[in-house]
Amino acid sequence: MDGNFNDNDLEKVVSADKAHVWHHLTQHKPFETGDPRIIIEGKGMRVWDQNGKEYLDAVSGAVWTVNVGYGRKAIADAVHEQMMKICYFAQTAGSIPGSLFAEKLIEKMPGMSRVYYTNSGSEANEKAFKLVRQIAHKKYGGKKTKILYRDRDYHGSTLATMSAGGQDERTAQYGPFAPDFVRVPHCMEYRKHELGLEHLSGAEFGRAAADAIEEVILREGPETVGALCLEPVTAGGGVIEAPEGYWERVEEICKKYEVLLHIDEVVCGVGRTGTWFGYQHYGIKPDFVTMAKGVASGYAAIACMVTTEEVFDMFKDDSSDHLNYFRDISTFGGCTAGPAAALENMRIIEEEGLLENCTAMGTRMMANLEVLKEKHSVIGDVRGKGLFIGAELVVDRDTKEPVDEKICAQVVADCGAQGVIIGMTNRSIPGRNNTLCFSPALIATADDIDAITDAVDNALTKVFG
Ligand code: PMP
Repeated sequence: MDGNFNDNDLEKVVSADKAHVWHHLTQHKPFETGDPRIIIEGKGMRVWDQNGKEYLDAVSGAVWTVNVGYGRKAIADAVHEQMMKICYFAQTAGSIPGSLFAEKLIEKMPGMSRVYYTNSGSEANEKAFKLVRQIAHKKYGGKKTKILYRDRDYHGSTLATMSAGGQDERTAQYGPFAPDFVRVPHCMEYRKHELGLEHLSGAEFGRAAADAIEEVILREGPETVGALCLEPVTAGGGVIEAPEGYWERVEEICKKYEVLLHIDEVVCGVGRTGTWFGYQHYGIKPDFVTMAKGVASGYAAIACMVTTEEVFDMFKDDSSDHLNYFRDISTFGGCTAGPAAALENMRIIEEEGLLENCTAMGTRMMANLEVLKEKHSVIGDVRGKGLFIGAELVVDRDTKEPVDEKICAQVVADCGAQGVIIGMTNRSIPGRNNTLCFSPALIATADDIDAITDAVDNALTKVFG
């Protein structure tokens, strides 16, 4: 740490936080006796708290965001320069970084065409949902309004995105929700027994999991279903990649029933899985792609909803009907700091070869965790793509009963005490948050990866013996 703060300042910060800040995803009762953690500084893969304790951050800002690591002067300089030129003008007009980033982004997304700027992942998803509803009104006589979402997927914290929330734990107590959101089953091979499909393996299961989507479309009536919204690799629901055969079948089904395919890249987007976007591993062609976290690695709040030219064209019209365009605005979609930071972020990923590093380091981390799986029977499954990895903890490998979330939390806390910040992800079952998760910055070195998995090894030995 650079020592700009003295102990008195820090005490003041801690007491102000305790008195006035409501933290995200946090039960505050324990802070009545203890102190919250306040992160003061970050550099590369490391952060420091108010006590000067150094941590290796294996989750890129707790929620898989800071893809290029902390303390990037080039991004800060680009944002500074842009803010001094012009900080804001609503996206009813264009901006220099907004235009240039859109062009650069589309270069990385063959088949896609238009970028709509907004400021959070939830909001980007809401924009896509609104487009689906409007297309239903414009093209299908108000009928194709239903949006399908998948069990275990997450699309945001607002009421409409929670209506598309596949994690019951997160949605409990917040209903009633918006109508016309319909759930389809998950595609998680490790838990296929929960779907009664344990007799199928690999591509057979992949196909069956996708067929389950077709069954829902037929049950609801294809004339009522407008879109299917999926994460390319499910993040908070347990780090789940769909099995072989799944995506081809999903695309086939969407085409057959004129269902628009919306891919939520809020986590996977901009390098996290070793390609620019997660869907690009599977050769599919979405109609909407939404992204947020990694777009500017957290240096500025920016999210994008990207569509094909075909979708965009549906909203072009030279009649005087004022209802025919997309009547939506996001005030902070006009902040120029976002695209200025995003342009630099993308340049860094390209120039430093971070997609390649992500793939190489992800392979190393998976191999290390497989070794830990041999050693610790509590690890039931290790899975992931690039530097986006989960290790699911179970009481018994045969029954796959999840460990209690409190025990999983002890592993996370023990890693923290060793100076390594890891995460754990939600399951659909309340209280059974049982998957350790890892999403280090794409700059991670082999030593960083080994330090993370060594800490997990120690923590598992301590908690489970
Ligand atoms: N989609 C996915 C897949 C996410 O993981 C998240 C956030 N964790 C969101 C959407 C919502 O993004 P935000 O928190 O920026 O609204």
